[in-house]
Amino acid sequence: MDYPGNLFVVAAPSGTGKSSLVKALMEVDAGVAPSVSHTTRAPRGQEKDGREYFFISNDDFDGMVARGDFLEWALVHGNRYGTSRRAIEQRIGSGGDVVLEIDWQGALQIKRLFPDAILVFVLPPSLDELRARLTRRGEDAPDVIELRLCNAAEELAQAENFDFVIINEIFERALFDLKAIVHAQRLKYIAQRRARPDTFKALNIV
Ligand code: 5GP
Repeated sequence: MDYPGNLFVVAAPSGTGKSSLVKALMEVDAGVAPSVSHTTRAPRGQEKDGREYFFISNDDFDGMVARGDFLEWALVHGNRYGTSRRAIEQRIGSGGDVVLEIDWQGALQIKRLFPDAILVFVLPPSLDELRARLTRRGEDAPDVIELRLCNAAEELAQAENFDFVIINEIFERALFDLKAIVHAQRLKYIAQRRARPDTFKALNIV
């Protein structure tokens, strides 16, 4: 189905700075809405149910999978995460843009369902820097950090399946890159024609 809104999907190994980038994008661009995923993992730190995630039990997650409530879901670092179908379809169906901040497995599932989805992969500048960021963040125990770094090698190889790659070395530069990707989508012929029908009509462009 052809939806008028854009579906941006941002994936990256954890610690790459993906969440900060997406958050900063939404602060400067009210046209892009986030999607709140469901997860079976426990809340961390200040996380609040319904804000960062909907924190649900394994049984409830099973129920949502069985009912087809998820557009995609994946097992990431031992916990399940899923994107609920209804909110996304409503928003892009009514012409709004959505950004999904999900893992690469989910991103590829989304691309199969929505070939027009724009897949963005965020890379760290180096593995050493990734380890330093995970350690500095202080959210995960050392064994969890090691697991995340082990998984990162496989995750990084997925970058080739994405439409765009951002290297998050300097945050402001990476944010500029993400904004440029979003902006470029809105300049596409089909998007401009939808956004400015009167201009197109006045110019006799069909
Ligand atoms: P964290 O536990 O650090 O919040 O997230 C772990 C990973 O799961 C991150 O890569 C995050 O982007 C991903 N993730 C969050 N929500 C979803 C989702 O709905 N679907 C998928 N496939 N991955 C998700």
